[in-house]
Amino acid sequence: MTKLKALNGFKDIVPGEVELWQRVEAKARDIFSRFNFSEIRMPILEKTELFARSIGEATDIVEKEMYTFVDKQITMRPEATASLLRAYIQHGLHVQKPVQRLFTIGPMFRHERPQKGRLRQFHQMDVEVLGAANPRVDAELMAMGAMLLQDLGVSVSLEMNSLGCPDCRPVFRKVLLDFIEERYEALCDDCKRRSTSNPLRVLDCKNPACREQVTEAPSIQDHLCDGCSEHFTAVQESLQQLGVDYSLNKFMVRGLDYYSRTTFEFITTDLGAQAAVGAGGRYDGLVEQLGGPKNVPGIGFALGIERLVLLLQQQEEEMEKNTIDLFVVGLGEKASQYAFPLVHSLRKNGLQTAMDHEGRSLKSQMKQANKAGARYALIIGENELEQGQAVLRNMESQEQQDVAIGSDIDGISNLLVEKI
Ligand code: ATP
Ligand code: MG
Repeated sequence: MTKLKALNGFKDIVPGEVELWQRVEAKARDIFSRFNFSEIRMPILEKTELFARSIGEATDIVEKEMYTFVDKQITMRPEATASLLRAYIQHGLHVQKPVQRLFTIGPMFRHERPQKGRLRQFHQMDVEVLGAANPRVDAELMAMGAMLLQDLGVSVSLEMNSLGCPDCRPVFRKVLLDFIEERYEALCDDCKRRSTSNPLRVLDCKNPACREQVTEAPSIQDHLCDGCSEHFTAVQESLQQLGVDYSLNKFMVRGLDYYSRTTFEFITTDLGAQAAVGAGGRYDGLVEQLGGPKNVPGIGFALGIERLVLLLQQQEEEMEKNTIDLFVVGLGEKASQYAFPLVHSLRKNGLQTAMDHEGRSLKSQMKQANKAGARYALIIGENELEQGQAVLRNMESQEQQDVAIGSDIDGISNLLVEKI
């Protein structure tokens, strides 16, 4: 009988791994409650129409990534914001409190090509603030995300853009279209199609040829109306007030139609192509668009748990790797005698240092250095010792440089500390 296996892109989270998930979720709950968020849980199945109306018909998610039961017109949620807003409207949560701060944690479903950090069932921690337009709230949310990621010990950078509003975005769209039309032939097929349906998406195409074409593209940041421009500036000032580092990225347009004004992403360089650990933005017209009360602005973001867990696993592996700063290779008795107090001095100087005491060969000592995970090796031969020279080798890049050695052991030790 063939063995039954989980579907491609769907994963079990087994003991040994589940502990990291628990750590991530517990830390998130801790931080979210410090920022006064309450939990909400929604069903996984929703009417297909909910996603078509919020995420947008011409987006990758709705066009090709959703798990839909076509005959029943229901869909497994591909993200949380639409469901959360549906629940917010259905239960009249705006009546209970003028500003609702809500979070939810759970599985999402998208039919994508599975890769490291990209699954078909994946999990998000999603936060949304409904009823607050103040730019301070945008900054507060980004600061909360940054705090959570920092507390977990993952290093990311925060990138931000503004997508303007229904007043200024159409103006920019035209400017961008003019720019794109001049380069139309050089774009990939997807972008050719996008240039009519959703030209802003050409800006974040991953295709290298398209990227090159848009480097000089106009920036939406230069085409914001007064209201959006003031909001954008105020968000940045508030981020600075909170000491949150960020950079502006004119190419970040996000794949969902509902965004307005602030959009942002938490980016890592440690997961290859799956660079976004979390992303979000403002969606001031969405509640009304879904049939809810007028003038309920909103903003939120979602963090991908799989990607966070991968980062934490990588970190643990790094930490488990035994490493030292320097292995001093003394060849022959005289060199070893010289190396002995030098190693001691280096250790006094704070360097993790090791040497061999058994008079082994160069080859065998280099093996030891490798095993110890030494970043550098200092090689001292008898002849070199007489000439007052040793060789400092970078074990990773394999670059070598000569280092002058002599009787001033502490002096040489200090010099090595500087070089390493
Ligand atoms: P990407 O550009 O990587 O496809 P996205 O813009 O589609 O991401 P969002 O819809 O903004 O992602 O979702 C927020 C976060 O959820 C992402 O930053 C990522 O961490 C996570 N995420 C999205 N899709 C997946 C997936 N298929 N597998 C695992 N995590 C995902
Ligand atoms: Mg995606």
